[in-house]
Amino acid sequence: MSINQTIYIPLFALSMLFFCYSCYQRLQLISLGTSENRTDRPVARFIRMLTYAFAQKRVIQRPFGVNHSLLFWAFLLLVLANGEFLLEGLFPSVSLALLPTSLHHGLAFVFDAVSLLTLACVTIAFARRLFFAPDYLGNEYSSPRSCEALLILGMIATLMIAFFLLHGAQIALGEAAASRPISALFGKALAGLSAASLESVALASWWAHAVVLLFFMNVLPRSKHMHILTAIPNTYLCSLEQSNTQPRESFEKGQRFGVGEVERFSWKDLLDSLTCTECGRCQDVCPAHITGKPLNPRRIVHDIKVNLMANGPTLKDGQPGSLPMIAEEQGEGTSSEEALWSCTTCGACVNVCPVLIEQMPKIIKMRRHLVQEKAEFPEELLTFFENAEQRSNPWGMAPADRGKWSSMLGERPFSVDKTEYLFFVGCAGAFDTRAKQISVALATIMDQAGVTWGMLGKEELCCGDSLRRLGNEYVFDKMAKANVEMFIEKGVSKIVTSCPHCFSTLKNDYRQYGLELEVIHHTELIEKLIQNGKLKLPRHAELGKTIFHDSCYLGRHNDTYNAPRNVIKAATGKAPVEFGRNRENGFCCGAGGGRMWMEELTGDRINRTRVAEALEQKPDTLCVSCPYCMTMMEDGLKDLGAEQVQVKDVAEMVAEALRSQPKV
Ligand code: SF4
Ligand code: SF4
Repeated sequence: MSINQTIYIPLFALSMLFFCYSCYQRLQLISLGTSENRTDRPVARFIRMLTYAFAQKRVIQRPFGVNHSLLFWAFLLLVLANGEFLLEGLFPSVSLALLPTSLHHGLAFVFDAVSLLTLACVTIAFARRLFFAPDYLGNEYSSPRSCEALLILGMIATLMIAFFLLHGAQIALGEAAASRPISALFGKALAGLSAASLESVALASWWAHAVVLLFFMNVLPRSKHMHILTAIPNTYLCSLEQSNTQPRESFEKGQRFGVGEVERFSWKDLLDSLTCTECGRCQDVCPAHITGKPLNPRRIVHDIKVNLMANGPTLKDGQPGSLPMIAEEQGEGTSSEEALWSCTTCGACVNVCPVLIEQMPKIIKMRRHLVQEKAEFPEELLTFFENAEQRSNPWGMAPADRGKWSSMLGERPFSVDKTEYLFFVGCAGAFDTRAKQISVALATIMDQAGVTWGMLGKEELCCGDSLRRLGNEYVFDKMAKANVEMFIEKGVSKIVTSCPHCFSTLKNDYRQYGLELEVIHHTELIEKLIQNGKLKLPRHAELGKTIFHDSCYLGRHNDTYNAPRNVIKAATGKAPVEFGRNRENGFCCGAGGGRMWMEELTGDRINRTRVAEALEQKPDTLCVSCPYCMTMMEDGLKDLGAEQVQVKDVAEMVAEALRSQPKV
């Protein structure tokens, strides 16, 4: 055994032991979470993992992401090279040189080229962090120039340089036969040295590489770079549901509700917290954070991790943790109640996370705890909860008045034999003065196209969307069961609704209650009617320059982007202009997640921010496809003194095209 091996073997063994121990400790922490099945539908999961982890779908969507993706792909290849390096240290006769010569030389060439690429990417990443770090890389607890980030980059750069020096010295000594063009350049630079000096360079580089590599491995599980180990499995174990469809709760005696302590999160939530790359993308798109609320989705995930680290050791001993998960005041490891109530459940954070972390569902879990276990929620929600529970609508209107909006249309009851669609009008469409006009427009369109439809009238109940997003799962559960039972009893097979919140809840959440029927949003129905020629628009509605605002619950949560745009084009003859932030990057109106029923007292108003964005394009008409967006946009325009801009629902635009006079 050489002196090298005598020192290296125990060092390697100790490093591996410590690495395994660190991973075991992290696994122990993750296992403190509650159970959750994330192994069903393996094919769908595998495809997600290939798409998001290996193909880096979301990472490369940002300009600098290309650099990170190149590093990732290079890293995958270099795992093989470094594996060989570590093994060769133990067993000098074991190396890739045992492979057929052409394959060995090919691999050596690839490793050399990839190492240069890695060095270039690391240099760019270093320069970016030091000299032009974007705002979203930092926040109140993390600096873009954090020692940890710079240390990791420094170690990777050292590994690459040591790699080139080692092989360069071997080439200069005439020991290396494989083709390594970059190392050969280093070899040329070292060619003037004596054989003894070259051997010293090779030995020093070998040890530098070995020590840094073993140290790097041991830093990973104990730093934010844990994501290097967990990101790939995390994408496989992601949720296959829509992010706004939270799991059901059971209401048996003795049951606990939601999450008030870190160990009440599921193991997957805890894995998420250890997987966060701190890239800041979610913080950069969060409407609450952007408008100055205390909510930052990145911070939510970070606080779970910090809380887990702090409380983990006592929890493992079966004792409760001392650092609270939720409190009035925010602190590192503790989320504030105000932050949790600031979420609009827009899903922008979930949609942008490169490693498929589910930030928003964690917020809902904590809301469930606050509402159902502690009865702690903003005061204005008390009226909302009471109205929803007692009168099944947010305004507390008499349930008997639900069908009154349609008095001029005559009796239109749903009947399984006579009507194809159940028109689920929703609380806004039935009770809100402005939204009633959307219901009338949709009814007119369906009549004109010969679609048979009917309503449930006073029998219709609130769908429960806001209740569920606000964490009042108990009342939501009762409503969902009652609605599903009624749909089944009445033989409903197709539902159309003009509210994306009803649409998403009936389509996605109610599936958890066994409801499997066709639910479509009115923009999809109208698009279909126009396309199949059942709805003919004789002329174009005169609405001037139109701009379309994507509803989060129609777009991001249900992937419906083209239907409203196609309908607007058919109704006005022109495609609408787009917001700077549109489609999956659309910016919330501020009303989702139950925020419709709460005051917005901190920071700028989200609807004003969105309306100001619209006004940059100088539109005449702001088009929406949601009654909540309608209210928020109209309020925002009033606030900004821009009431000359009208807000129209897509159905109203079509109804207007139907009744427009021909141009002379
Ligand atoms: S769902 Fe929207 S509002 Fe809530 S944390 Fe995510 S980005 Fe922010
Ligand atoms: S949660 Fe996802 S998007 Fe947000 S900082 Fe972490 S890795 Fe980035």
